[in-house]
Amino acid sequence: MVNNWLKITQNFLYPPFCALCGDATRCATLPQIPTSLCLPCHDDLPRHHPRCTRCALPLSATDDSSLCGICQQHPPPYTRTYTAFSYGPPLSPLIQALKFERRLDYGLLLSQLMIASLSRDCATLPDVLIPVPLHRTRLAQRGFNQALELARPLARHFNIALDSNSCQRLRSTKQQSQLAADERHQNMKGAFRISGTLRQRHAAIIDDVMSTGSTVDALAHALRCHGIEQVDVWICARADRHWR
Ligand SMILES: [Zn+2]
Ligand SMILES: [Zn+2]
Repeated sequence: MVNNWLKITQNFLYPPFCALCGDATRCATLPQIPTSLCLPCHDDLPRHHPRCTRCALPLSATDDSSLCGICQQHPPPYTRTYTAFSYGPPLSPLIQALKFERRLDYGLLLSQLMIASLSRDCATLPDVLIPVPLHRTRLAQRGFNQALELARPLARHFNIALDSNSCQRLRSTKQQSQLAADERHQNMKGAFRISGTLRQRHAAIIDDVMSTGSTVDALAHALRCHGIEQVDVWICARADRHWR
């Protein structure tokens, strides 16, 4: 009760401001966190429907299945991909600023956007969340793992275990964004190692952006080899280009 009144007073004195237009304003679909979005900016975020339920690429008007042609022919090692948005402006600068300018407040905002979208779309919750790990060199440079920053509020909200220790990135792989699609798949082969025993049966991989899918492919493959029966993917934004 005291906490509630503190929050109300704080929001009255210091209302949340919109990360995109700077207006001090409120959006009913988001909790009142210090960095939020106003309703017009929230409604402006890039969305694309319908998507392939497996890899989250946009389906074309002629597709008569919930799966894209690529997933029908070559099913990836994960079962479902949930994405809140398409990767593009005005969302992409927030993700870039989280990673490269250490805007952890944007991380909290992005995870709240994911919570709103997952609450609507995800009927079966996993037993454990696994943020895509960074290699220790990249982690030392950046000082934090953006996937873990997104995963913590998700784990708290949905009351799901969070495992950021069992999976390691073995190689300091080249920046995926600098590579062509087939080079990305090659770059990620055997990039992850699972240590210890995973007791859960159903996991969700957490990441900020999914482009070719090669990172989640490699991690999902490693998890499946270690006894996880179902792997889903929860990402903030999906690049809508057909890479595979
Ligand atoms: Zn705004
Ligand atoms: Zn697909």
